[in-house]
Amino acid sequence: MESGDPISMPERYDHSKDEGQLQTLWEDWGIHRFKSEDQTSPTYSIDTPPPYPSGEFHMGNALNWCYFDFVARYKRMRGFNVHFPQGWDCHGLPTEVRAETTYKVRKRDLAVAEFKNLCIRLTSEYIEKMKKAMKMMGYSIDWDLEYKTMDPNYYRLTQLSFILLFKSGYMYRGEHPVNWCPRCETAIAEAEVEYVESEGLLSYIRFRTEDGHLVIATTRPELLPACVAVAVNPEDERYRRHVGKWVEVPVFKRRVGILADEGVDPNFGTGVVMVCTFGDKTDVKWQKKYKLPIVKAISEDGHMTEEAGRYRGLMIKECQEAIMTDLQKEGVVEKSEKIKRNVGTCWRCHTSVEIISRLQWFMKTKDMTDDVINWTNKITWIPEFAKHRMIDWATSLDWDWVISRQRVFATPIPVWYCARCGENITPEEDWLPVDPRFEKPKVEICPKCGCQDLIGESDVMDTWMDSSITCAVHAGWPGNPESFKRLFPADLQPNGLDIIRTWDYYLMVRHLALFKQAPYKAMLINGMVRGADGRMMHKSYGNYVEATEAILKYGADSLRQWAAGGAATGQDIPFRWSDVEHARRFLTKLWNASRFAIANLREYDRTTEEVELQVLDQWLLSRLEKVTKEVTEAFENFQFNVALESVRNFTWHVFCDQYLEAVKHRFYSSDMGDRSSRIGAEYVLYRSLLRVLQLLAPICPHITESIYQRLKPSTESPRSIHLTRWPSVKQELIDEEVEKKGDVLVAVISEIRREKSKKQVSMRAPIKHLHIYAEQNERKVLEDNVETVKRTCNVSSVSVQPLDDVSLVTPVQEYANIRIRLEF
Ligand SMILES: [Zn+2]
Ligand SMILES: [Zn+2]
Repeated sequence: MESGDPISMPERYDHSKDEGQLQTLWEDWGIHRFKSEDQTSPTYSIDTPPPYPSGEFHMGNALNWCYFDFVARYKRMRGFNVHFPQGWDCHGLPTEVRAETTYKVRKRDLAVAEFKNLCIRLTSEYIEKMKKAMKMMGYSIDWDLEYKTMDPNYYRLTQLSFILLFKSGYMYRGEHPVNWCPRCETAIAEAEVEYVESEGLLSYIRFRTEDGHLVIATTRPELLPACVAVAVNPEDERYRRHVGKWVEVPVFKRRVGILADEGVDPNFGTGVVMVCTFGDKTDVKWQKKYKLPIVKAISEDGHMTEEAGRYRGLMIKECQEAIMTDLQKEGVVEKSEKIKRNVGTCWRCHTSVEIISRLQWFMKTKDMTDDVINWTNKITWIPEFAKHRMIDWATSLDWDWVISRQRVFATPIPVWYCARCGENITPEEDWLPVDPRFEKPKVEICPKCGCQDLIGESDVMDTWMDSSITCAVHAGWPGNPESFKRLFPADLQPNGLDIIRTWDYYLMVRHLALFKQAPYKAMLINGMVRGADGRMMHKSYGNYVEATEAILKYGADSLRQWAAGGAATGQDIPFRWSDVEHARRFLTKLWNASRFAIANLREYDRTTEEVELQVLDQWLLSRLEKVTKEVTEAFENFQFNVALESVRNFTWHVFCDQYLEAVKHRFYSSDMGDRSSRIGAEYVLYRSLLRVLQLLAPICPHITESIYQRLKPSTESPRSIHLTRWPSVKQELIDEEVEKKGDVLVAVISEIRREKSKKQVSMRAPIKHLHIYAEQNERKVLEDNVETVKRTCNVSSVSVQPLDDVSLVTPVQEYANIRIRLEF
C-alpha cells in the first residue's frame, strides 16, 4: 500500500492482503512495544494469561484475547505506556499424553530427560501454531516480552518462589488425603475436580451385630475392605443403644466400632453409614477426629491392594461387581435401588476421583481465606457478579492446596531429603534452576546430621505453580525492582469465567503470601463461547469453529466485531456466522464511504474560522461529539458491545446513509459560488471520518489503519492511527437545537429517497415539484434549508405549506406532523 496517495484506494477492501501487511508493518514500527525507557507516561499493565499450548486457537481464546487487545489499544490511544506481555503455560499432563501418541512412545519406557525433550519439542510446535493465529487476529502483544514456563529462566522463578514460601512457612510436606486421579496417576487440586451427576446403585447391606444386625446403605461396596467404623446420629433413637458396640463387616468378617456423630444424616439411607478411608471428605474428617486407622484398599493406579484380600489386583469397578456378588451369596443384601448422586471427576480425563493419602507438598492456603476475601472485595470486578465466584470458592475450600504432582513434564520441586534424619534441603537462590531428579545438591552432607545420603525429590509441581506468579514476573520480579514498582500490581487481570477458581485464586494466594498485596487492581471477566446450537462450543458437539477459519473467510476485523458485539461483558456469547457476515458488510460500507471521501477531499484541512458550516454540517458535528462521548464511556467501563454498536450505528446510518447522501451534491457542483459549500462539507467529512476511524480502531485495527494511511494529511501526522490520541469530547459542539433541525431535514430527505425507490425511479431522477406540509416549527427549518433539499434530491421547485387537509399525502417516518408529495 502506498500511503498518502488518495487515489490508490482499491475499489474493494481485501482483508486477506491488507491485514497481514499491516501486522508486519506494526511490528517493524514497534508500536506495540512497552517503552521501559519512557519514565513520564503513565503505565498500564495487563496480566495476560499464558495459555496452555494445545496447538489450536479456538473461539474461546479468540474472544479472550480480543478483550485484552481492545483494552490495550484503547489505553495506548489514551496515552498510556501499555505493558501487554504474552507467555505460554507449557507444562502438564495433556502434553505428556499427546507426546506419547504423537511420537508413539510410552513414558515409562523412556528416560525422564528423553521424554521431557519430546514434550518440549511438541510444545514448541504448538506454540508456533497458536502464535500465528494470534498474529492473524492482529493482537497488539509486545512479543519482546514473550516467555515460556518450560524455559529454565522461567521455572527458576517458580522454584525461587517455592523456596521463599517454604522458608516463610507457607509450603509444607506431609501425608494427607488428597484428590487423586487413578487414571492420570497423580494428585489433583480441589479446583481440578469437576462434579457431575451420575446414576449409582444404593445397596442396603446387613452388618452383623452382637445381638442382631444393622442395615447400611452404600453406593460403594468396593470400599468395604477400607471400612474402619460405622456411624449414626447421636439423636437417632433407633440406634442409640448400638453406640460404642461393634459390627462385623460382611465378606471381610472384620469387627469395627459404632460411633455417634452429628454429621450423620438420619434421613439418608437407613441413617447408619460406613466410615471408609477414604470414600469422601467426611471420611477424612472423621478419620482424623476419631483417630481411626487408615486402610489403603485402592492403589495409585486404581487397582485394589492386598488390603482387599482376595479382590487384590481387580480394578475398582470389577471389585465392586465381585463384592456385590459375594454379598448376595451371603444373603446380606436386602435391596438395591438406583439413585442420582454427585461424583467428583478428574477435569482432564473425567475418571472418578479417589481420595488417597500419600506424602505430598502443600501450600498453606486454608488459613488465608479471610485475607483472600478482604482483597477480593477491594478489587474492581467487571462484571460485578464474578466477584462472588471468587469469594464462594475461597470459602468452600476444605483443604490446603496440594502442589505436588506425580508427572514428568513440569517444574521440579527444588528439594532434597536427608535419608537418615529426613531434613528438607532447599537450594540457595544462585543454584537455580535445579532438577533434583538428576542433580545433586551443592552441599555434600545433611546440615543437620551430617549424613551423606541426600535424595532428590522426584515429584514435580502443579502447573498452576508456574502460572500463578505471572503478575510478579511480568512486572520484573525479582531482578528489576524499579520496574516492579511501576508495574505491580497489574492494572488489569483479564480472563475467562471458568478460571476464576484456579488462576485468579492461585494468583491471589501466591502473591499475598509473597508480597502481602493483591496482584491485580481490576478483574475483567469474559464469558464462554457457545456454538450456533446454544451448547458450549466443543469438538465433540460438532459446533466447533477454529478462529483461523473465520479470519481467512471474513478477516480479523470482522471476527473481532463478533467478539466485541456478541454479548455484554462477562456473558456467554454464541458464535454465529451471520454476526461475522454482518460485520463484514459494515466494513464494506465503511470502505466505500471512505473511498468517496478520500477521492473528494481537496481543501479539508482548514480551520474553523475558514469554513462556513450548514445546518447538516453542524448537525453531524454535534452527533459526532455525542457518539465520541458514548464510545469513550463504554471503553472506560469495558462495555465493548456498547462501544461497537454506538460507533457502528453512527457510521452506518448517520454518517453514511444520512450525511454522506445529503452532502454528495456539494462535491459535484462546479461553479465557483459553491466552493465554500464544498469546503464546509470537506471539513466535516474529514473530521468525522478520522473520528470514526479512531473510535473504531481498538476493535477494527486493520481497516481503520488501511484507510488512515490514505487519509492522513501529511508526513507530520502520526505514523499510525494507533498512535493518534484518543479524541476528547468537545462539549461546545453539542447543540440540541441544531440536532433537532438536522433531524427534520434528514427525515424529509430520507422520505423522498424512499418514495423514489418505491416508484422504482433512480435516486438522481428529477422531481418537478415537491410539496411539503408541516407545522410551524418544522416549516421554518425546511424553508431555511430548501436549497439543501433541492440539491440533494434533484428537485426543481418546492412549496412549504401548513399542515391541513393532507390525509392523502405521505407522512414522513417518525414525524407525523410532516408530510410530502412528489410531482415528477
Ligand atoms: Zn485424570
Ligand atoms: Zn540428616
